[in-house]
Amino acid sequence: MRLTQRLYWVGSGASGLFISGRYDCNVYAVDCGGPILLVDAGAGGAGAAAILENLRSDGLHPQRVAHIFLTHKHADHAGGAAALARETGATVACSQETATAISTADPALTSLEIAKKAGLYDPDYTLEPCSIGLALADDEEWAIGELTFRHYLTPGHCAGHSALAFRDENGLHLFCGDTLFSGGRILLQNIPDCDLQAHLRSLGRLHDLRPELFLPGHTMPCLREGWRHFEAAAARMARLLVPESYR
Ligand SMILES: [Zn+2]
Repeated sequence: MRLTQRLYWVGSGASGLFISGRYDCNVYAVDCGGPILLVDAGAGGAGAAAILENLRSDGLHPQRVAHIFLTHKHADHAGGAAALARETGATVACSQETATAISTADPALTSLEIAKKAGLYDPDYTLEPCSIGLALADDEEWAIGELTFRHYLTPGHCAGHSALAFRDENGLHLFCGDTLFSGGRILLQNIPDCDLQAHLRSLGRLHDLRPELFLPGHTMPCLREGWRHFEAAAARMARLLVPESYR
């Protein structure tokens, strides 16, 4: 689904648009003028095939997908990376900490083990390990085609979480993964590496970017005045409250 001249929404699961696999996060494609960047990969399996089909129906040939960026290591974001990389020839990029978790698909490091116990995934779901071609540092610039992206480490939702931004004529686009959802909500989970204080610091940092396009890992993206979602969280934090909960 085309959102702007460069931006497409090509994956989303049962809690969203449901245009790909049941467990999939929002998956975005950016046409960098030649190469295509995918942001997040969904959970894999039939969802990966649906994402490829959605790219085709938007007129984006999968062979143009040069890079896949993963915001974090959770299976609903990273599980499709290996299959999509295999089908497109893309290289996969993420933070160093995410790379360590995804290249081994360690069920404890990725919290998949406890997520399955909690009933968040089918018992027979497995996370396919994926080799990572590029580990991005905090505040690192990344040039792809006509665009320059900037990578921000944003731990809190989980360790190693990061966000990616680029600017074009429509303004600053911010892919913030699971750092913030529509309406200024966050998802704190009972997992070992969820860290409230780190989360709030990450939110403050992204708030300062004042993104025009707010592109979260779940819930509805927003193409104008996306900063208002960060303002909603910041207003709660200014009253010493935690932002509202996504679930
Ligand atoms: Zn997550």
